[in-house]
Amino acid sequence: MPARVLDGRAIASVVRAELRALASDYAERHGRPAGLAVICVGAQPASDVYVRQLLREAASIGVRGSLVTLAEDIENAALRAGIEAVNDDDETQGLLVQMPLPPQLEPRVVAEAVNPRKDVDGISMRSAGNLFLRYPSFVPATCAAVVELLDRYDIPLAGQRVTIIGASNTVGKPLAFMLLARDATISVCHIHTRDLAHWTRQADIVIAAAGKAGLVTEQMIRPGATVVDVGINVLPGGAIVGDVAFERVATVAAALSPVPGGVGPLTPLMALRQMLLEPHL
Ligand code: NAD
Repeated sequence: MPARVLDGRAIASVVRAELRALASDYAERHGRPAGLAVICVGAQPASDVYVRQLLREAASIGVRGSLVTLAEDIENAALRAGIEAVNDDDETQGLLVQMPLPPQLEPRVVAEAVNPRKDVDGISMRSAGNLFLRYPSFVPATCAAVVELLDRYDIPLAGQRVTIIGASNTVGKPLAFMLLARDATISVCHIHTRDLAHWTRQADIVIAAAGKAGLVTEQMIRPGATVVDVGINVLPGGAIVGDVAFERVATVAAALSPVPGGVGPLTPLMALRQMLLEPHL
């Protein structure tokens, strides 16, 4: 039987409706809409697509979105000052700094400077520490999107074996801690992992976040497993694909998320939801 498709667009339309209600509640309680600021350094064509998507989603649910563009050639001190200006702005409840940064800038500045109470992409050291210690926390929106997709399709996590391909600070690692907190048994693989298929074949759930088209094939998947594809890869002709050979893996997996149309549509909504829920940190 072909795999069930985990349809992120369909789930996004349900979540969007829920967020409209949350945003309108927020505006009523505070006498003004919630504000989200996105800081971009220079022009980054690939990530600009995400920034546009995020600001469009903000507008569609009734959140005031603003874009702060800093010059491409700024140094760390100016980046820190730009972040601090948004931290101090009472009209802004959520702040996201678009990555990657130009090479002269250190990501650590962002992790240190973003106000943990506005950290809707879970990138600050405080958020990382809270997640590690299992305290309430903002988490990276992509990771929240993966968990949301699994939850909305009632795919159980407790006691399940999950193999994550990718160990970055923004996807693989925080996702491992989020799923550990849901009582799954986690393996985290990366570029130096020997015999990747050994780890994926024993998993009930495989999450691919490596950034390599065609990495996950049907021989690597246990029949009946769930596969979530986080990868975004642009092929030479311009087509966007994930890390999973979709058609082939669909012949063995029980459930599989497509790219595009899986995790991607949920990601900006997760950043907005975290802002509107105003966690007590
Ligand atoms: P990254 O480059 O920072 O990290 C990639 C990780 O994958 C590393 O740990 C690396 O060791 C591992 N890896 C790379 N090639 C591998 C291989 N052949 N075998 C095993 N492990 C391998 O990337 P990232 O920021 O974590 O993003 C991962 C992917 O997810 C990218 O394709 C990115 O575009 C995509 N992404 C999607 C969303 C979304 O909302 N859908 C959001 C963020 C990132």
